[in-house]
Amino acid sequence: MGDKKFTVVIVGGGAAGVSTANNMKRKRPEIDIALIEPSEKHYYQPGFTIIGGGAYSLKKATRNEADLIGSGIEWIKDYAESFQPDNNAVTLRSGDVISYDFLVVCPGLQLDFEKIQGLPETLGKNGVCSNYSADTVEYTWETLQKLESGTALFTQPPMPIKCAGAPQKIMYLAADRFRKKGIADKISVEFLNAGPGMFGVPFFAKALSKVVKDYGIQTHFGHNLVAIDGNAKQATFETTDAEGNKATLTKAFDMIHVTPPQSAPDFIKKSPLSDDAGWVDVNKATLQHVKYSNIFGLGDATNTPNAKTAAAVRKQIPVVVDNILKLQASQALEEGYDGYGSCPLTTSLSTVMLAEFSYGGKVTPSFPFLDPRANSAIWWLGKTFGFPFLYWHIMVKGFRIDIPHKASYVEKLVEEDK
Ligand SMILES: Cc1cc2nc3c(=O)[nH]c(=O)nc-3n(C[C@H](O)[C@H](O)[C@H](O)COP(=O)(O)OP(=O)(O)OC[C@H]3O[C@@H](n4cnc5c(N)ncnc54)[C@H](O)[C@@H]3O)c2cc1C
Repeated sequence: MGDKKFTVVIVGGGAAGVSTANNMKRKRPEIDIALIEPSEKHYYQPGFTIIGGGAYSLKKATRNEADLIGSGIEWIKDYAESFQPDNNAVTLRSGDVISYDFLVVCPGLQLDFEKIQGLPETLGKNGVCSNYSADTVEYTWETLQKLESGTALFTQPPMPIKCAGAPQKIMYLAADRFRKKGIADKISVEFLNAGPGMFGVPFFAKALSKVVKDYGIQTHFGHNLVAIDGNAKQATFETTDAEGNKATLTKAFDMIHVTPPQSAPDFIKKSPLSDDAGWVDVNKATLQHVKYSNIFGLGDATNTPNAKTAAAVRKQIPVVVDNILKLQASQALEEGYDGYGSCPLTTSLSTVMLAEFSYGGKVTPSFPFLDPRANSAIWWLGKTFGFPFLYWHIMVKGFRIDIPHKASYVEKLVEEDK
């Protein structure tokens, strides 16, 4: 395509990028926008949990990227490779240079499957599955259907990861399947988590401990998966006890659901836009880059300490769009993002615990009168119908719906829980 210049350039056309482009275009139809995105397919990743659990299909969770990009937005089908923020430019893998007045960086995060020794060779066979990638999610369901007895392991790597609840969501769906099939007593379900507890927010962690107990699931904290031998059906964990002592433990499995370690994409890590840990370094309330004022970041790629979810993205989009327009008009930026994120925890094949919270683990539900810790059939309908609708037809299309989330809805419950 050759070198080009646009008012707004967006890197990444996933949940954050394509929605931001479409929202910006709705707010300012005359603005010229380019979206740099290499993939032809766009996935509704929150659906991956229920695909793995056999309650949804990959087809339903997939769209052609071309059909999502609003008219008047230029799609640059290539990888962004490097950033030259002092020259307001991005270099593509093709070697073309794209210049901008404003840059939005949202290429998501990277799944580091290769950091677990032996995993790439065995993933997708030998009962080794993962909901985290479109290429492997259908094998989770295949594996769950085949298992009749033995040991089913579910792993969780160190944070941060996208949708921190997803490693355990699939475990509950599996345990419910085993129960419904009448084979629960023949299968030992175990959760092996590198972290110290069931969930980062104690209000929900306590409620999840009850779910675990009800299924008879064994939990192991401070257990980090480091190697898998698929043929021998053995998984090796590095364990850390309360005193910080490390050891190695090998466990046999009949199936293992692996949540891979995750990090910022390599091209972000080595760019001038990243912080020491490799993530895009932005102000956590305005989402403006801390060093380059005409650059913004949102979605999984940034260092904001929220739950990395599409629900967070929904609240971040208006902040980024409005702040770019404010900057263009030389107005003060809005500190509009409070860290909201949401994790619909599928606690069975017909119930969901809808965990919604903001920075600092503050519980901030969008709906009054409901106890967010309840295993609710309403939110199962949300998970399977409502949230996908909201994603494809509202957020991705660039519409805004502001459902306010409020700590005041649950102040009493949170107080009682302490
Ligand atoms: C198993 C699972 C369950 C989940 N469950 C939920 C849930 O229940 N609720 C919820 O809200 N969220 C959930 N999520 C998380 C949610 O999907 C992500 O937080 C969300 O997609 C983040 O949006 P994003 O745009 O930052 O990244 P993505 O949607 O991943 O998009 C990143 C895009 O950047 C592109 N890209 C990558 N590299 C480059 C490059 N070099 N140049 C240009 N483009 C590039 C990619 O091709 C991709 O299209 C789940 C995720 C998974 C995997």
